[in-house]
Amino acid sequence: MDIVIIGAGVIGLATAWRAAARGAAVTLVDPEPASGASSVAAGMLTPVSELTYGEEPLLRLGLASRERYGAFIAELEELTGHDTGYRGDGILEVAFDSDDLGYLDDLRRFQESLGIRVEALTGRECRKAEPMLAPGVRGGLLAPEDGSVDPRRLAPALLAAAGRLGVRLVRRRAAAVIVENDAAAGVRLDDGSEIRAAKVLLAAGPWSGDVEGLPPGVVPPVRPVKGQVIRLRTRVPFLRRATRGLVRGSSVYLVPRADGEIVIGATQEELGFDTRVTAGGVWELLRDARELLPGVTELEFTEVSAGLRPGSPDNAPVMGPTALPGFFLGTGHFRNGILLAPVSADVLTEVLLDGTVPEVGRPFAPGRFDAAGANGPKTRVGGAS
Ligand code: FAD
Repeated sequence: MDIVIIGAGVIGLATAWRAAARGAAVTLVDPEPASGASSVAAGMLTPVSELTYGEEPLLRLGLASRERYGAFIAELEELTGHDTGYRGDGILEVAFDSDDLGYLDDLRRFQESLGIRVEALTGRECRKAEPMLAPGVRGGLLAPEDGSVDPRRLAPALLAAAGRLGVRLVRRRAAAVIVENDAAAGVRLDDGSEIRAAKVLLAAGPWSGDVEGLPPGVVPPVRPVKGQVIRLRTRVPFLRRATRGLVRGSSVYLVPRADGEIVIGATQEELGFDTRVTAGGVWELLRDARELLPGVTELEFTEVSAGLRPGSPDNAPVMGPTALPGFFLGTGHFRNGILLAPVSADVLTEVLLDGTVPEVGRPFAPGRFDAAGANGPKTRVGGAS
């Protein structure tokens, strides 16, 4: 069966790999594979710390993906020989002042009401877990089953895995979906050439709304949400595991890598397709990181970058078949696409190859936005990735 996937970010790549493993003939179209949000993201794997009221189906999807992560990575690393920087040793979330602690207490009660295991830690216990934390840190939560992966290693590993299984990569921009007899029939590229296929999956992240040729009700409702991150480097042990913090209501996180890199993120800005990095963004991140870990100012500054999260109207992915036969969506993963890559790939592979939507994927059907007003924005509890 011929499938064309538009977009080789983590979602398109993981789906291409999984579908090819089941014997599908897959073509990936992307002028610059793995260049979108997947090249900027910090890579926290945290369905728990990111919990938001009203997002329980997203939580279930995140937990299902976290459960799959270890086996997904083991298979990927064995097939390709790539190291993805995966670690499943938990995420610590700490509170800077008593208001921040009250907020974390609320979050813990909400998590526990959903049966999720988190450990409440005192300030002293937080510093025992992370000795570089500021003496004033009031307390925290440990989500022992969360973890992190390096998206800059994950995406190339997925690309290599897809290649090993015969996925064809076409380094061009998809300009339009070809529609014939009221069904998708392939993709027209920016040089005018065509790739014919029985099924087309649009997984172009925040650019998914730009591909032409689609009937109006089928165009995915995604928008770019800018996030700036900075990268530092340490030569001495500094941070043992990914640590999030609330500092006077503002959220910041630090994700350490085995090679000494520390990623600090992330701003959340509604500025369209703007990827300029700003002095204010860097200042905000360093200001909050320094409150939690005063030693960060001693570390080497190596990079600042901005990426665009693919946001949907209800902050959740848009995955599955559409009203146009043969045309499918795999986008809208917003701040969780790295976490959600394994489960999304499984859902989309089943949708594409078997024509059925697995239970865990049903709440994310593209058609859910059709009923006016059914999906307003949700109130956030946790911070941004
Ligand atoms: P992208 O990674 O954006 O990939 C889209 C691809 O489509 C690109 O390669 C692009 O070249 C291609 N493309 C675009 N238009 C076309 C076209 N017309 N034709 C062909 N190809 C096209 N998630 C987490 O789980 N944990 C985190 O800690 C985390 N931190 C983040 C921090 C920041 C600052 C940002 C920005 C994001 C973060 N995310 C995180 C979110 C995550 O990065 C995204 O949800 C995920 O990368 C989305 O993957 P994607 O494949 O849908 O899109």
